[in-house]
Amino acid sequence: MEYNALGKTGLKLSKLSYGASPLGGVFRNISEQDGIKTVHTALDLGINHIDVSPYYGLTVAETVLGKALKTVPRDKYILSTKAGRYGSDFADFDFSAKRIRKSLDESLSRLQVDGVDILYLHDIEFGNLQQVFDESIPCLMDLKKEGKVRYIGVTGYPIKIFAETIKQFDIDCILTYCRYALHDTALETLIPELDIKGVGIINASPTAMGVLTSRGAPEWHPAHKDMLAAGAKAVEYCKQKGIDITQVALQFAIDHPSITSTLVGTANPANIEKNVKWAQSKADPELIATLRGFFDGIPNTWPSGHAKY
Ligand code: NAD
Repeated sequence: MEYNALGKTGLKLSKLSYGASPLGGVFRNISEQDGIKTVHTALDLGINHIDVSPYYGLTVAETVLGKALKTVPRDKYILSTKAGRYGSDFADFDFSAKRIRKSLDESLSRLQVDGVDILYLHDIEFGNLQQVFDESIPCLMDLKKEGKVRYIGVTGYPIKIFAETIKQFDIDCILTYCRYALHDTALETLIPELDIKGVGIINASPTAMGVLTSRGAPEWHPAHKDMLAAGAKAVEYCKQKGIDITQVALQFAIDHPSITSTLVGTANPANIEKNVKWAQSKADPELIATLRGFFDGIPNTWPSGHAKY
């Protein structure tokens, strides 16, 4: 496993990281036992960074992850969780300083740890950006000063929100999803600025939240139907050639020198084994070009949060 520096933090994250949202049953109902085994397999295979949120499975993912981590020495993993998002409606977001502090305490209790390494504000485009800048990020900075979290960041989908955030604040890292994968590489437009400022880049959802897997997208997937259809065609194309599209999707997403780490979610230990193995080699560039071609000229992005962002 390769390890990369996370911006200026001094942390070294495995190139491939573990996203714990599937532990909350986000993609399918899972067995808790398999979920726990998946976490242990990931750590055994050299993955040292795990991401979660109180939103995943509405606290279930954090609870299951806590059970998995209970038997693991704390210095064996770098843990991130988030605050501010507690559901899918606008009313389920709360970026007030009071809620962020309470949220962190609740997360620590569910995760059964004394502290997290990184605390993010979760999907800030759903909040009032003025409040995020005036109250929420300053709250994260206070938590960092107080030693309650080591590093801070924001997550979200629209690229613009990150540009605006790093213009105003010296944050440690960002977590973006579905913006550097076979269907869309818009993250590239932001990378030079992130590199100049030394902001760590966590890239999530290399399979575009299931689109680039043989199981396909979950029913709640926000993409346009044309993008889902293009994804299904790409999956079928690979299947005909005896190739697992997830392998190509993963190898494409992790192969960017500025991306610190790519988060992949699964609750299946066998998938983690495959992912770690796949991360050790590169995909055929011609195949990548062909698969990317399936998404040419189709709406490959979707609205998220307040449209003006
Ligand atoms: P993903 O692209 O990692 O896809 C997950 C899906 O891929 C699951 O259905 C899983 O079963 C499947 N999969 C994984 N490995 C596979 C394999 N080898 N073969 C077949 N299928 C495989 O999407 P994700 O889980 O949404 O993203 C990863 C993580 O990133 C999340 O768990 C979360 O931690 C983080 N994330 C954060 C945000 C945010 O902060 N806003 C958004 C999205 C994701």
